[in-house]
Amino acid sequence: MGLILSLDQGTTSSRAILFDHSGTVRGVAQEEFTQHFPEPGLVEHDANEIWETQVRVARQVLEDTGTSPATVVAIGITNQRETTLLWDRATGEPIARAIVWQDRRTASFCQDLNDHGKGPWIQERTGLVIDAYFSGSKIRWLLDHIPRARERAEAGDLCFGTIDSWLIFKLTGGRCHVTDPSNASRTLLYNINTCAWDDDLLDLFQIPQSLLPEVRSSSEVYGETDLNLFGRALPIAGIGGDQQAALFGQACHAPGQAKNTYGTGCFMLMHTGGEPVQSKNHLLTTIAWNVGGQTEYALEGSVFVAGAAVQWLRDQLGFVQSAPEIEALAAEVEDNGGVYLVPAFAGLGAPHWDPYARGALVGMTRGSNRAHIARATLESIAYQTHDVLAAMEADSGITLTELRVDGGASLNDLLMQFQADLLGVPVVRPAVSETTALGAAYLAGLAVGYWKQREDIAANWQEAKRFEPQMPQDERDKLLSGWRKAVQAAKGWAG
Ligand code: ADP
Repeated sequence: MGLILSLDQGTTSSRAILFDHSGTVRGVAQEEFTQHFPEPGLVEHDANEIWETQVRVARQVLEDTGTSPATVVAIGITNQRETTLLWDRATGEPIARAIVWQDRRTASFCQDLNDHGKGPWIQERTGLVIDAYFSGSKIRWLLDHIPRARERAEAGDLCFGTIDSWLIFKLTGGRCHVTDPSNASRTLLYNINTCAWDDDLLDLFQIPQSLLPEVRSSSEVYGETDLNLFGRALPIAGIGGDQQAALFGQACHAPGQAKNTYGTGCFMLMHTGGEPVQSKNHLLTTIAWNVGGQTEYALEGSVFVAGAAVQWLRDQLGFVQSAPEIEALAAEVEDNGGVYLVPAFAGLGAPHWDPYARGALVGMTRGSNRAHIARATLESIAYQTHDVLAAMEADSGITLTELRVDGGASLNDLLMQFQADLLGVPVVRPAVSETTALGAAYLAGLAVGYWKQREDIAANWQEAKRFEPQMPQDERDKLLSGWRKAVQAAKGWAG
């Protein structure tokens, strides 16, 4: 039957995972790569190092599992989103290091655009807010700051790509310069209504059309790998930006289905169907994928500090030695004892959007102890998720029936139970936790007929554990009202 090879190119590591027809992981190889911080606020990656680590882990996972390349039916790619690279079309050499999504160097340029009232029409076309996070302003920065870059771009000698485009360019020996709508919709240059690069946005950011990759669907054969890479030409058949790939891997294929990834931060995406839903509550509208000629959309909301609050408790307060230990500490008390932590260490994201908010620990009494603070830390992840979901439900008019979860902190049972209690809907953890890589595998496998239809994928999705809401409504209301007061205390602090 063969296997699907998923390349999961993340912010800190490159991974390669082999999946079989049941969606089960058959092998994993992973390598971290260098994070460059040239100045405070700047974050860069060496694209050649990304490429080298990615090829190495792909070969490694085949070797470790004794898999012949002939067994690989297709390759799927999922990637850190928005990270921006320009390279020479003829030589394949990057003209500078990639500017990583976290990089803030274009913040003042974006602020200017906002000050000039460009926000609403850009949101209408792209579904995004104007922010340094997305690729558009980063491309412009490279064209303006790397010697001769603009001239070479105007002559058609350079390529722009997010990391998916870069990997496919390299994998195909420079034959394919492509991307998919889930990645294109994170650039601030792609019109999510017409599904095309937008000339007005290209003008605004002063970006020549010739730089841009061709936007193909998320599931089709884009090209084949160069023979000398794996000794065999393997079809590359799926692309998904990491969060959208996770939504696909969680089999959230129908309007109203949602997943939340509990990692350093939280990323919640809700499938909203075949039309974009414009947010009135500071969420992003994004293309989930285009499969079989059909574009589907999602609402996205992120929480900046989630699992990172647990790291703070571990590293700054020394309450625990490892993140999972927080569960036992928090379980020493029955409830938060009135203590709330708002981990607004870097301001608050959706739906509050307050860059001046700062962390707040409130509601303490003489009896409050470490366990209460640990509990408040875990609960803060669930409260923030609750707020994002409330905004999503308000925007979409859809009421959630269950939340599918993944990511490191989703393994915390106490947190997941509290999340279910707070949302009043079941929280469900799947058997396969590698949902991002799995989503890319599914996109690729569908394109080559390894899986015939989405129903096959949905049938593969298996529940490992379900958390049913048990908390009475009045208790939920009381907790949420405490949280709202705590958020008020944190807001505007640094302003
Ligand atoms: P990322 O992909 O963002 O690096 P992961 O999905 O690997 O994140 O999850 C790691 C994060 O989850 C860390 O911030 C860590 O503090 C947190 N974490 C891991 N295990 C647990 C746990 N059992 N309970 C609570 N938080 C956890």
